[in-house]
Amino acid sequence: MNIVLLGAPGAGKGTQAKLLVDAYDIPHISTGDIFRAALAEGTPLGLEAKKYMDAGELVPDQLVIDLMNERLAQPDTALGFILDGFPRTAAQAVALDEALAASGRKIDVALSIDVEPEVIVKRLSARRTCAECGRITTADEGDTCQACGGKLEQRADDNEATIRNRLSVYAQQTAPLINYYQGKNVLVAIDGDRPIAEVWADVKAACEH
Ligand code: AMP
Repeated sequence: MNIVLLGAPGAGKGTQAKLLVDAYDIPHISTGDIFRAALAEGTPLGLEAKKYMDAGELVPDQLVIDLMNERLAQPDTALGFILDGFPRTAAQAVALDEALAASGRKIDVALSIDVEPEVIVKRLSARRTCAECGRITTADEGDTCQACGGKLEQRADDNEATIRNRLSVYAQQTAPLINYYQGKNVLVAIDGDRPIAEVWADVKAACEH
């Protein structure tokens, strides 16, 4: 199954993607994770992406499209994939459809996880990620990951000014993709302002439909 996760930053796409990986055993492909990993390794891709990420702006379309065309040509995507944070613009969505069509594939379901902007600002300001195991948690947990003992860190772009810019970029450039996928009859809207298990029940039902 080929799945796209839409939703503002902090809507819970990454959390639901992990549950989808467990349920369907297909790869979770997050462009944000790819850029952060590239940056941690100090590659030219990572350094280029950093310029945009730090400001909460989008990395230029062609760079993202080339990266994803390469990723989606990998054999582990043959039985399906979960796209998290891609596509984020109309140009990316069209390029994705073209690349998939060229290999006889298509998007089966686009899930829009909807959460109000003010809830997002609160969520992201408190979001912490374990530097060791990658688990996502909240500032309530303190500085140490309860799962593995690693150090809990705040993402550089999870500060209020950058969060607000990311939300405005989302509203302007990414939210229109909801209509795009609606037009293709694959969109399912899900209320993301609920406990993880409740959101997951709807995500799973949409994928099993
Ligand atoms: P995320 O982890 O999805 O919140 O992405 C973090 C940052 O990476 C974004 O704010 C953008 O700067 C960049 N980014 C991730 N995915 C994309 C994309 N599909 N198009 C452009 N920029 C992206």
